[in-house]
Amino acid sequence: MGIKVLKFGGSSVADAIQLQKVKNIVDADPERRYVVVSAPGKRFSDDSKITDLLYLCKTHIENHFTPDHVFQVISDRYRMMELNLGVKVGIDKDLEEIRANLKPGVTADYIASRGEYLCGKLAAAFFGFDFVDPAGLICFDERGRHMPEETYKRLSEELKKHEKAVIPGFYGSDVNGNIRTFSRGGSDVTGSLVAKAVNADIYENWTDVSGFLMADPRIVPEAKPIKNITYKELRELSYMGASVLHEDAVFPAREANIPINIRNTNEPDHPGTIISDTPGEKTNIITGVAGRKDFAVISIYKNLMNSEIGFVKRLLAILESYEISFEHLPTGIDTVCLIISNSYLEGKLQDMLEDIERRLKPDSVEVYQDMALIATVGAGMNRRLGVSARLFGALCEAGVNVRMIDQGSSEMNIIIGVQNDNFETAIRAIYDAFVTE
Ligand code: ADP
Ligand code: ASP
Ligand code: MG
Repeated sequence: MGIKVLKFGGSSVADAIQLQKVKNIVDADPERRYVVVSAPGKRFSDDSKITDLLYLCKTHIENHFTPDHVFQVISDRYRMMELNLGVKVGIDKDLEEIRANLKPGVTADYIASRGEYLCGKLAAAFFGFDFVDPAGLICFDERGRHMPEETYKRLSEELKKHEKAVIPGFYGSDVNGNIRTFSRGGSDVTGSLVAKAVNADIYENWTDVSGFLMADPRIVPEAKPIKNITYKELRELSYMGASVLHEDAVFPAREANIPINIRNTNEPDHPGTIISDTPGEKTNIITGVAGRKDFAVISIYKNLMNSEIGFVKRLLAILESYEISFEHLPTGIDTVCLIISNSYLEGKLQDMLEDIERRLKPDSVEVYQDMALIATVGAGMNRRLGVSARLFGALCEAGVNVRMIDQGSSEMNIIIGVQNDNFETAIRAIYDAFVTE
């Protein structure tokens, strides 16, 4: 018998009604043995995600306010879930213990992780599965960096002891025993780690859309689902903002050659998207388009830059000294562009520009802020004649000014930079230009 690992996202576990759908999915196939759950997400559009409320508790504590009223909202939701699911896991006792820990010095990671912890306990009792706490199994170093080898070793040893188990997503613990989380959306990563640890046949990632769509449905509501996509293409799209799957969730599954299947909890019969090494049949030239807002483009010009040995090296050393990582680095004959997420530049931009002026003596430096990056992705796309012409023709027609182009070394994408407020128009225009059938 095979092993299937499932991960259910926030909307799939938002309340008892959703958890009943999850149970039906799990019960429908005895190979579905390991289930990773997120914290309850939104039940309706104005609702709050439990994780956001938990971070809000932390903000209250930091600002010397009581987190009581926010914690009450969280507690009520879990109590209601316990009642409506008809299980008894002693949620009151857990809530009391967490409340007692909400005092100065408590870490954001500990607080945030409790959303998944409590949800995991409820789900395990409801399915009749064992509850396996990932603290002590999913390992981080003292600086909060994930340690994959230690994780696989401990997880696979532990999970061997459980025929069927629910594992809360998003967190683990560090070498000192403190709770640590992945970045937001990290339950996808937990699912992938569990899949590799138990050598699963498939990693089913259940969410609220029927697979990976060719564009963000909030921008292109009729975006078509993608049946098959390669890990590489998916990595490009998810890194560039297609938020269906956490960008780091691809690696563990890919290393173990485990296909990932994106499925919809609200439409369980839909086959969704299969992510594997096998490219899908293409009806369109592109596989998808995705992007992210809030970047800065810093263009540095200097005559004869190309013959000045070590110029880029010294530029990167300046970035390193500010602990700034860059996204792209397109170069021209006498120019180099740095594309950096705004989040890295906060409070550092001015000092860094002064250093660049002083140490590299460029002829000019231009900074464009509020830029968005958009990646148009498709394996083999760049070899096809007329792709760029079609892309830029469509953007021009839509009145979008392209500030930066990076065709990069990968054969499968073209990345452009546009103003933040042109972001949606540009995605729409690219989609319409390539998706014809
Ligand atoms: P979960 O809580 O299940 O992890 P997420 O909210 O993290 O779900 O991811 C699913 C959401 O990703 C969808 O509801 C959709 O709004 C968004 N999304 C962004 N880009 C895409 C895309 N290309 N295809 C499908 N969904 C997308
Ligand atoms: N609950 C966490 C978040 O909202 C992790 C996850 O859902 O994957 O980011
Ligand atoms: Mg998610």
